[in-house]
Amino acid sequence: MGRMGEARLCVLCASRPAEERWRPFCSERCRNEDLARWAEGRYRIAAEPAPAPDTDADSSS
Ligand SMILES: [Zn+2]
Repeated sequence: MGRMGEARLCVLCASRPAEERWRPFCSERCRNEDLARWAEGRYRIAAEPAPAPDTDADSSS
């Protein structure tokens, strides 16, 4: 018997109810924090040199 319309907790800090304006976060701060983490992760992935798959399929004998 859960209450309908119960505020969900902020997905970032999980300590405060998500604000309608910043859903699913509780505040602009948490939203920005999440965005920053996301961007950081993307940058990290982008900066990491992806190991090129060594395909020796072009060598014909
Ligand atoms: Zn929060």
